[in-house]
Amino acid sequence: MEVLDGNKVATEIKNEIAESVKRNLKLNKRPPHLAAILVGKNGASETYVAAKVKACEKVGFVSSLIRYEENISEEKLLKKIEEINFDDKIDGLIVQLPLPKHINEIKVTQSINPSKDVDGFHPLNLGKMQLNLPTYISATPAGIIELLKRYNIKTSGKHCVVVGRSNIVGLPISILMGKNNEIGNCTVTLTHSRTKNLKHITNQADILIVALGKAEFIDKSMIKEGVCIIDVGITRVKSNKTKSGWKLLGDVNFNSVKESCSYITPVPGGVGPMTIAMLLQNTLKSANKEVY
Ligand code: NDP
Repeated sequence: MEVLDGNKVATEIKNEIAESVKRNLKLNKRPPHLAAILVGKNGASETYVAAKVKACEKVGFVSSLIRYEENISEEKLLKKIEEINFDDKIDGLIVQLPLPKHINEIKVTQSINPSKDVDGFHPLNLGKMQLNLPTYISATPAGIIELLKRYNIKTSGKHCVVVGRSNIVGLPISILMGKNNEIGNCTVTLTHSRTKNLKHITNQADILIVALGKAEFIDKSMIKEGVCIIDVGITRVKSNKTKSGWKLLGDVNFNSVKESCSYITPVPGGVGPMTIAMLLQNTLKSANKEVY
């Protein structure tokens, strides 16, 4: 079994991005600028946004973190997004999800200028992804594809089973894995909470991508010998063994499957760091006007 080291690959990508920023600076181009909006005080969201801002600094980007209280009105949030949409000095805008219940996430996602939608959640960018047109592919699916590519994992003709059909992970990665691309050409089965006999299906997977948000859900009995496992799940659980008092668990029981799979992404250190690296890559693409 080989561990797919997301930290290592993400560092390679971030170094490439930092080099590109330096080259642009020499040409008197300003550094890419990512703006992030964070509403409320969700612990996990705070952690994710802090990691994104820190990653921006490391590669030489400018970042702006705009914080709002939980009770901000939808109108005020949309007004801020519109202001950023027209700000020529900002290349990428992300609004950290989930948002409080009184705010319509779909409305917010659609209000972001597609040319700055570096999360790739806007319907226009999702449609472009479907048609293989230049676009921002959302960071987590893009990170999975890049990880498979850099580890030279063959996907053509394989059976890829995806567990979870969310708009940000399961659905887009199922589309990408079925595309006629270098990393793609799989026969894809997309499963969800209504899937009957899930175990029977996951047992047929050559590549198993798991994104359902249930800690250690997949165990040895659910996989075939030699499967490549991509564990997207992140669940924070209390722990008295860590300094922070929390530890992160994936959707796969690592110890149970480790002897049976060919490859596996660890949690933490697998898909998570790749997601951040791809967000930076999308922001660089925006600054370089490679998409719009
Ligand atoms: P969502 O909660 O949006 O979607 C979960 C999906 O899993 C749904 O499609 C749901 O089905 C399905 N599901 C739930 N229970 C089962 C079950 N028992 N059997 C089969 N399918 C089931 O999750 P996200 O996609 O947003 O996130 C999934 C996980 O990935 C979370 O732990 C999240 O924290 C993590 N994540 C990690 C990222 C990273 O960078 N590593 C980035 C984004 C997410 P249905 O549609 O029928 O409800």
